[in-house]
Amino acid sequence: MAKVLVVEDEADVRDLLTLHLKREGYQVSAYEDAEEALVSFERSEAAREPFDLIILDWMLPKMSGLDLCKTLRTKMSTTIPIMLLTARADTMDKVLGLEIGADDYLTKPFEIREFVARVRALMRRATPTARETAKTQLSFGPFRADIAAKQMFLNEVEIALTPNEFKILTTLMQKPGTTFERRYLIKLIQGPGVAVVDRTIDTSILGLRKKLGKDADWVETVRGFGYRFRGEK
Ligand code: CA
Repeated sequence: MAKVLVVEDEADVRDLLTLHLKREGYQVSAYEDAEEALVSFERSEAAREPFDLIILDWMLPKMSGLDLCKTLRTKMSTTIPIMLLTARADTMDKVLGLEIGADDYLTKPFEIREFVARVRALMRRATPTARETAKTQLSFGPFRADIAAKQMFLNEVEIALTPNEFKILTTLMQKPGTTFERRYLIKLIQGPGVAVVDRTIDTSILGLRKKLGKDADWVETVRGFGYRFRGEK
């Protein structure tokens, strides 16, 4: 079942969107607060059960929908389709919204039928097969990961990784060339009741590099920030 994240502070609008999205067959997680939504987003990414669509209201009490959109696109490097909702009809805002990485933009008040049609269009663009494959198979350079089977292959030879090494490598592989902050990676491998310190990341990266041998340079250190997977072959 496809998952939709909804962030809208007006309860009646939030309920209406949730109702219609559920009718369309989506699993809905709705929040009134951008910060709570961000935590939910991070949790879904770490659990490898990513959202398929994000719907953001522009005007929110603390962190704005626009700031959340920016954070999701830059810090979180997500490519999940994002729809912005706003009460402003200003074209300048529309341009700003699209520049910041929203895929679609809907001005309030809107007809619920139009909302549903836009949702369908966004979901069609990200085809189900592509989405499903992306969740289970991942390849780049000499690497191939089977997410479901928790197997990693280097030049089609399986390499035995620890759960942390596997999580880190598959995360980096999803966005070659993108630096992932240490803080993000720590959160990623943090399980309930497990204390993860900075050193845990270093140890995992060290172990990972050892196992990759001459291909270790695919995992790059970005001093002061974190780690990234080499972008080019
Ligand atoms: Ca609002």
